[in-house]
Amino acid sequence: MNSPQRSLDARSPLVLEVHELGRRAGTMRQVDRTVPAPEGIGIEMVRVPQGSPIGLDLKLESVVEGVYVSGTAEVELEGECARCLVGIEDEMSLDLQELYFYSDKDAEEDAYFVVDERIDLEPVIRDAVVLDLPFTPLCREDCAGLCPTCGTNLNDDPEHDHGDRVDPRWGKLMDLVGETDEN
Ligand SMILES: [Zn+2]
Ligand SMILES: [Zn+2]
Repeated sequence: MNSPQRSLDARSPLVLEVHELGRRAGTMRQVDRTVPAPEGIGIEMVRVPQGSPIGLDLKLESVVEGVYVSGTAEVELEGECARCLVGIEDEMSLDLQELYFYSDKDAEEDAYFVVDERIDLEPVIRDAVVLDLPFTPLCREDCAGLCPTCGTNLNDDPEHDHGDRVDPRWGKLMDLVGETDEN
């Protein structure tokens, strides 16, 4: 038996009706539409802004086990550079390929299911975004980051330099180290 399924929120723009596929293997339907992003997709450093457009270009295919979804979802991203903390805006195209099983078919517990003749794209898009996101988002490959001493953005000020001035506290410590070496 499959685990109990929560019913899907039919009002969610990422929940699609599939009843017209009629469980006839080989039937196909194209979905080409733009829907607003739900909240909370992404990771701490990079997110899909809530309400931003998600461009769906999908093929829904009736197969023996369920409904096979394939195609792309274009999402917008916003976040912060992991090195210099400047705001980043980007776009990402997600390749989706997912089989939603009919509830009377045998499937892994973490499989997706057709529920009340609907499928929910949200968890699939959520997983695809997290998988595709860079572990450390950068504003550019060679981002120079922030000056560790004063926090200046080194991308804006490549010549930035504090000279050889040593913090007075470090100076004292170096004197001590020097003395021990001599003994
Ligand atoms: Zn940066
Ligand atoms: Zn500095």
